[in-house]
Amino acid sequence: MPRTPYPVPRTMTTIDILIIEDSRTQAMQLQFIVEELGYRTVLAQNGMQGLELLQKGFSPIVITDWMMPEMDGFQFCQTVRQQNFPGYVYIIILTAKDTKNDIITGLEAGADDYLIKPVDKAELAARLNTAKRIITLEHSLRKRNEEIALLSVTDPLTKIYNRRYLNEHLPAALAYTSRYNHPLSLMIADIDFFKGINDRYGHLTGDRVLEAFARSLKQCIREDLDWMARYGGEEFVIVLPETNVSGAHNAAERYRRRIAETTLLTEPEPISITASFGVASFYPSGDGRQITPDALIEAADQCLYRAKKEGRNRCVAVLLG
Ligand code: GH3
Ligand code: MG
Ligand code: MG
Ligand code: MG
Repeated sequence: MPRTPYPVPRTMTTIDILIIEDSRTQAMQLQFIVEELGYRTVLAQNGMQGLELLQKGFSPIVITDWMMPEMDGFQFCQTVRQQNFPGYVYIIILTAKDTKNDIITGLEAGADDYLIKPVDKAELAARLNTAKRIITLEHSLRKRNEEIALLSVTDPLTKIYNRRYLNEHLPAALAYTSRYNHPLSLMIADIDFFKGINDRYGHLTGDRVLEAFARSLKQCIREDLDWMARYGGEEFVIVLPETNVSGAHNAAERYRRRIAETTLLTEPEPISITASFGVASFYPSGDGRQITPDALIEAADQCLYRAKKEGRNRCVAVLLG
């Protein structure tokens, strides 16, 4: 799942700036100027300490000295660029090293900007504005990417995960099951005679029934461990990690009863539905044998087929291993 973005300050002027500087006097002078410009500051005496602070409490903007004991500004830039942080780290090198070669070396190490000491307040203010623009842009892009990533695995009608999510996550759940010899169950829930509902009340009402069905199932599942996805039209898959066949059968019975007992308050009249459930459980026998996602789904589908054939509104389970 996407990582949580770092909290964006309500106004970007309350942003934290990490100052890394080994000279205490220079650090305090810089801190004074930066705080006068409206930012909050955090101080570190060398790159190593700066990294630790960055990992503990993320600051999107860093102003770092170059020459420092333990880890200098050059190594700090390189290390930050190799690591993963919750957001982009905008690094400004502030140094007395002022040759063209120094500047190129600093930028190539991963710095975004380069300033020569002694610092000029107006210039620093302008450079920090650039930094703010970049991290604001980066934050909104990342947020948008996270939204798109979530949309791509969400079913637009029922708002639960879609088949793509199932395809992406079932293999990992099964791999975990085999590696640690834990059980896993998968069920397919299918509304009985759903076509009849569409035929009688129209497709829109059919959609409302699908939404209500997904909501009911979702209210029943153990949110911390189990998850569900819309597999196809009126078929939903529920994955139950750490659940053996009797546990999954009991769960399916619980869902089935809940669906059968719920009357949907749709127009022009209330609608009652039932659903059938096919359950396949896998319990690794310890010999390293694995099962593919397709084989597990196929086994649950065969159980569903049997449940339909035996009269619908029932659950059929099978144990694989
Ligand atoms: P069974 O008890 O054997 O499952 O019968 P059924 O009628 O539920 O099953 P069938 O597979 O014959 O029909 C499923 C119907 O689901 C057909 C299709 O038009 C409808 N359907 C699929 N997706 C949607 C959807 O998004 N909205 C609506 N309203 N109907 C859908
Ligand atoms: Mg120094
Ligand atoms: Mg059906
Ligand atoms: Mg079906």
